[in-house]
Amino acid sequence: MISVENLNFTFPGSATPVLHGLSLQVSRAEVYGLLGPSGAGKSTTQRILLGLEPGYTGQATILGQPANALKRSYYGRIGVSFELPALYLRLTARENLALFGALYEGTTRSPDDLLALVDLSDAADMRVSDFSKGMKMRLNLCRALVNDPELVFLDEPTSGQDPARARVTRDLIKTLKSEGRTVFLTTHNMAEAAEICDRVGFLVDGRIPVTGSPDDLMRRFGEPLVEVKWRKQGTLDHARFPLAGMADDPDFITALKSPDLVSIHTLEAGLDDVFIAVAGQREG
Ligand code: ADP
Ligand code: MG
Repeated sequence: MISVENLNFTFPGSATPVLHGLSLQVSRAEVYGLLGPSGAGKSTTQRILLGLEPGYTGQATILGQPANALKRSYYGRIGVSFELPALYLRLTARENLALFGALYEGTTRSPDDLLALVDLSDAADMRVSDFSKGMKMRLNLCRALVNDPELVFLDEPTSGQDPARARVTRDLIKTLKSEGRTVFLTTHNMAEAAEICDRVGFLVDGRIPVTGSPDDLMRRFGEPLVEVKWRKQGTLDHARFPLAGMADDPDFITALKSPDLVSIHTLEAGLDDVFIAVAGQREG
């Protein structure tokens, strides 16, 4: 669905490239997460794939078309939610979706069905100017689905949403995948990516040095540890031991025998640990 090879991009007038040798592949019916801290170049990558920044070098092909020469038909097959919601504030939620739907030639999804997907049915007749940031983000997501797209681009789709609504959005993304759609997602939320992405790529210094499924990456880069806590002269002391081989570690045995043992926990690596390891390799 998406194939990028050795992509380089510098904003006009800027001295430093945002993207520098970036490569990534996204397959059909996959949820791909582009991860990285704020300013890494995630939104820029999405904009290039949408044909909005044609001044790149390298290869970027989406649905078989080069990103700097996309045909009109391309836009009928994709859905986009930008980082900042692009909506008509004076219109209601339902009117917004009807209007965006009218821009497409093919059949479109009914505004009411879309609003129900993101828990906005009760707000269908409210003006968008009265929406909270989280409500706008969810309406923005509906906008991306109006034309029943096979490929959906979502830039930070859960930003500004409370935890319960962020869950609605994550569940919707899982539904999109189960319907056979492909999702290209950018986020700085590592826990969210670990939950919903089939594969993730870390954007570091304008390229993606490491790609894989969240589980594989956490296994590859994260060493499971056991943390033992005990009390010593009134204060809490702790030590961490690698899970592998801990039974033969005399210090671990000593810690276990502490008369004031408080707790023993396994600490599993998260994607944020993987990111720190990947970003650290660059410096080392
Ligand atoms: P992210 O989405 O990962 O937070 P962006 O893609 O928005 O990052 O931005 C990447 C870098 O490019 C940042 O340093 C940002 O300041 C810069 N940048 C973004 N848009 C422009 C622009 N239109 N002109 C010049 N620099 C820009
Ligand atoms: Mg961004």
